[in-house]
Amino acid sequence: MLQRSFEITKSQTLKKVLKSIAQMDEYKAANDRLIVINEPECKRKFIEKELEEIKKVLPEAKIVGMTTLGPLTPQTIAQKNTAISLMLFSKSTVSILEADCHDQDQFKIGALFGQKIQGMDHPQGAYCISSCARLCPDKIIDLARNGNEDVPVFGAQAGSKNANVDESKIFTHNAIYEMGVVFAVFCGKELEITTDFNLGWHPLGSEHLVTESSNGLVSKIDGKPAADLYKKYLGVYTDETFYEHTCAFPLLVPSGNHPVAKVAIGFEGSSMMFSTGLAAGTKVYLAYSKSEYLLKDTLSSANKMRLFHPEAVMIFACMNRRIFMGNENADKEFNYYRQVMPELCWSYGYGEILQTKDGGGILNSTFVAIGFREKSKKKPKTIPLIVDESLKVKPDAVPLADRLVSFLEATSEELHNTILQLENLAEHDQLTGLYNRRKLNEILSYELNKRHKEDDLSVLMFDIDWFKNINDTYGHSEGDHVLVKLSKLVSETIRSCDVLGRWGGEEFICILSNTPLKGAQILAERIRKKVEEADFSPVPKLTISLGITAVHVNETHESFFLRLDKALYDAKKSGRNRTCSR
Ligand code: GH3
Ligand code: MG
Ligand code: MG
Repeated sequence: MLQRSFEITKSQTLKKVLKSIAQMDEYKAANDRLIVINEPECKRKFIEKELEEIKKVLPEAKIVGMTTLGPLTPQTIAQKNTAISLMLFSKSTVSILEADCHDQDQFKIGALFGQKIQGMDHPQGAYCISSCARLCPDKIIDLARNGNEDVPVFGAQAGSKNANVDESKIFTHNAIYEMGVVFAVFCGKELEITTDFNLGWHPLGSEHLVTESSNGLVSKIDGKPAADLYKKYLGVYTDETFYEHTCAFPLLVPSGNHPVAKVAIGFEGSSMMFSTGLAAGTKVYLAYSKSEYLLKDTLSSANKMRLFHPEAVMIFACMNRRIFMGNENADKEFNYYRQVMPELCWSYGYGEILQTKDGGGILNSTFVAIGFREKSKKKPKTIPLIVDESLKVKPDAVPLADRLVSFLEATSEELHNTILQLENLAEHDQLTGLYNRRKLNEILSYELNKRHKEDDLSVLMFDIDWFKNINDTYGHSEGDHVLVKLSKLVSETIRSCDVLGRWGGEEFICILSNTPLKGAQILAERIRKKVEEADFSPVPKLTISLGITAVHVNETHESFFLRLDKALYDAKKSGRNRTCSR
């Protein structure tokens, strides 16, 4: 595989670049050819002419392109010239999927893309671009990955020269889309793709909850006007400087193994606007960073990429980073990666896309890097370790504000750990380590509220038979041992998705999701027999009685527990060491 990137300038014209590509031996010999265009010019006419010219000289090549984001602030330097990156595959292939989202249902597009990818031979990854700031392609990506979970999707939402007027476009050798989505799917048994993303923003303070939101407009956080969050903690007001300040303090949202950042790009009254959806119920943290954090993260990622020995690299970065850390530092991030792959291609869009098995989605504030390589017997050239001496700051040169941030960071972490410990204490029974009654009630209330189908959630309650006698004969502490042993035994018998807790004294509850009453009966009997056969010495024999019931549609807490209690009572009344259901 081979990558070559070109910047089109007055002297290095498109014509010249295309001619030189057409003459390349590798171009002629390639199994498949992709031209990736990052275009700062949004005019349709301009793009049409450009496509025509490329197709004339390189008719064999597939083309995907997007318009890129302008500078957003006067100080920021954005991409000025057309950038063209050529990717040549010696064994692999590229397939282009494209759709206009004006007149088509996004669910249908996603499902169709998913089906097509399933039919492809060894799909290894997909480059995804979308146009129109209002179009958030997360649904399409989710559905396209349905059944293709191993295929990472990466790319960007196309940008616009002037951020206030959305002229974003994406295009292929077939068409130009004002509101569309394109996937370039890379396939091949020999093709390897690695994905990485750097954020560098760290959570600050406590967790907050989005309580009211529709599409990209978040109106309430913690039940209060959303913009108050920035006012209260950071003294940021809803005025013309709002975005300049919030972009330095994005919201962090937990996602899979890594948090993702969401930047408030503006406000409407006391609501905040985000470029991607932030649904009610989402937990968020305010976050902060320093240029040094961003650079250190990117440096270590570039060194990771170095060990992958890529033959091509694509980068999707966020303009926030450039605004936040300045042009010089932002260039450094790219230069770390250029030391790994000098011919890399890069773009700035409205949002970065990276969805893998580890989570992700439409991202903000990130630096996404994708490495490509076709397996070959040839030993790759060693790339020297990438170092940045300027990141090694002497301890006595740390400015006061940075020391205070360190203080805040350490205090936040301590606070966070204390909260976790308290939460753990509040939810668990001290003797057995199982969930306590409070937590069981919370889970059950949640389950009772959301239940839609009859008979797909069963609950099992059990109570030790004649436990008082055990205490009386062997002492209270031996009784405690029995409770601990029994908890362990039952935990090992149930599935990992079942929830076991201590209801009180010698009574336990087990919540069995996706389990009809029949299934609960089988499990209850399995538990009963296991207990009966287990060794609880010095107690010669231990038995339990079990009651089970399934949750009904629209059931109240009271009616449900009445039935469960009765079931257990039946088991006790009819002789103990048995299961009864209601
Ligand atoms: P049954 O078969 O009707 O359930 O008889 P039982 O003796 O098990 O029922 P009863 O409700 O009369 O007794 C429950 C006993 O459980 C009484 C109480 O002292 C004991 N118990 C409750 N919590 C604990 C505990 O944490 N540790 C110990 N060792 N005993 C406990
Ligand atoms: Mg008992
Ligand atoms: Mg009891």
